[in-house]
Amino acid sequence: MNIIMVGAPGSGKGTLAAYMVEALGIKHVSSGDMIRECIKKEDAFAEKLNSYISKGLLVPDEIILEMIEKRLQEEDLIPGVILDGFPRNVEQAIALEKIFNKLNKKIDKAVYLNVPDEEIIQRIINRRTCSNKACKQIYNIKFSPSKQEGICDKCGSKLEQRADDTQEIVEERLRVYHEMSEELVEFYRKQGLLCEIQNKNDEKTQQQMLDIVIQNLKQ
Ligand code: AMP
Repeated sequence: MNIIMVGAPGSGKGTLAAYMVEALGIKHVSSGDMIRECIKKEDAFAEKLNSYISKGLLVPDEIILEMIEKRLQEEDLIPGVILDGFPRNVEQAIALEKIFNKLNKKIDKAVYLNVPDEEIIQRIINRRTCSNKACKQIYNIKFSPSKQEGICDKCGSKLEQRADDTQEIVEERLRVYHEMSEELVEFYRKQGLLCEIQNKNDEKTQQQMLDIVIQNLKQ
């Protein structure tokens, strides 16, 4: 089963994907995480990637496509994948279809988390993530803080704030997102693949959202 998560940065795609991993037994692949891993290497390629990510801009399609195509061929993704952060525009969505065709796979659903911008900004600027790659638990210092400040409840590692989670960069990321999202959402709606979840002010719990996704997957 192959699922795509669509939604603004900070809409909760990563958190819901973690629940889906447990429920569906397939892996979660985040294009943003893949890019951040590359940036840690501090080589010329890392510098190039950072020149986009640090401004809230998208990295060029050819770079991200090469990374995703390679990752999708790996053995651990044979049972399926939850793709988060990719595709970001219709060009990437069309390229993804071609990659899936080559691999004899198909997209089963595109889960769209629709959250108002004001809510997104509050979530992102207060977001902290566990620095342990195997954990990556997400907290919000206002709405869902860790028990001990700066320390992950699950694994005890240090929490960190993403360099691009500042108000200024978030506003740019949202601008970039809105420029492309409507087209992308319509692309999947037309194909009958869209499962839309409206979520204002955290009114739905993760479990309720997961139930909606599971129901939709059965249709
Ligand atoms: P995210 O973690 O999904 O919010 O992504 C963080 C940053 O990584 C974005 O602001 C972009 O600079 C870059 N990025 C992630 N996914 C993509 C993608 N599919 N296409 C281009 N750039 C991406």
